[in-house]
Amino acid sequence: MIISMRSHATKEEIDHVCDRIREFGYKVHTIVGEERVVIGAVGIGDVTACLESLQAIPAVESAVRISAPYKFVSREFKKERSEIRVNGTVIGGREFVVMAGPCSVESEKQIMDTAEAVAAAGAKILRGGAFKPRTSPYDFQGLELEGLKLLAKAREATGLAIITEVMSDRDVDLVAEYADVMQVGARNMQNFVLLKTLGKCGRAVLLKRGMSSTLNELLMSAEYITAHGNPNVVLCERGIRTFETATRNTCDIASIPVLNELTHLPVILDPSHATGKRSLVPALSRAAVAIGADGLLVEVHPAPEKAFSDGAQSLDFKQFRAMMEDLRPYLELRSQSQTLKRV
Ligand code: PEP
Ligand code: MN
Repeated sequence: MIISMRSHATKEEIDHVCDRIREFGYKVHTIVGEERVVIGAVGIGDVTACLESLQAIPAVESAVRISAPYKFVSREFKKERSEIRVNGTVIGGREFVVMAGPCSVESEKQIMDTAEAVAAAGAKILRGGAFKPRTSPYDFQGLELEGLKLLAKAREATGLAIITEVMSDRDVDLVAEYADVMQVGARNMQNFVLLKTLGKCGRAVLLKRGMSSTLNELLMSAEYITAHGNPNVVLCERGIRTFETATRNTCDIASIPVLNELTHLPVILDPSHATGKRSLVPALSRAAVAIGADGLLVEVHPAPEKAFSDGAQSLDFKQFRAMMEDLRPYLELRSQSQTLKRV
């Protein structure tokens, strides 16, 4: 923290500020200028409480934080990129990892057929919601335990790892029994009780960006999970809410290189929720490869027009295969080029 005193603050006022800073556990370095005194506070303490306390002192002109408020997820803390192992697949390594499947698990046939199709096209992880966060309480809420069992069956049949959403801290143990990756949805990004519980779940976590959340808030939520014991966190950009209505959300594609500068955690893109429109999914997926993402989370359904949820943004099998084919030359370029990968 850097604290600037008002010009001509008295010695008593400066001493009082220094004492307050020390009470919060920081060391104090004072720089005396011609007109004003600037105080540097270093160390570990409750930054937010300390800043708020100092800002309330009339002799303080400004008190600002200089280091990032998150620690474990920052690149200063860990220079090398985190690689997260999920059933033999590495997220954040050399491979661009595609996770694909329906928005919701609907039936045995639907999930088994989808698993076969996405695996054949090159996906490594099968997605499918068993617990669904829906805007309307009257919409399909997911098959819950039955859905989890169907996902496990699909894993057995195809060897794909499973990613599925967990909506409540009460369901963490149950979902962790079946899932390889625990998905935290946009609406739960700041469900701090859930995040803390996931710190102890023993599974990798995919944390989606809240629809009105800043990247700083996303990283703070990731920090909750890591600070509670789980370093295996993957971040996911899924579009944010803006004034634009042409797409379901506005894809903040720049968030990917921004996050790659700020954190060592892998970052993937969900082009389905980011656009809400299947015709736009392949273009955004190409952009994800070019801009340094570690993978994709894509919605695929055997018959999108019959889907219980998110049919308009889901690709059918043929469209998914075609997209994976189209991505191939970009992925080859990526594997040869340092600049197309995260730096
Ligand atoms: C989903 O992945 O189906 C989902 C509900 O996504 P989000 O939380 O990003 O809206
Ligand atoms: Mn969905």
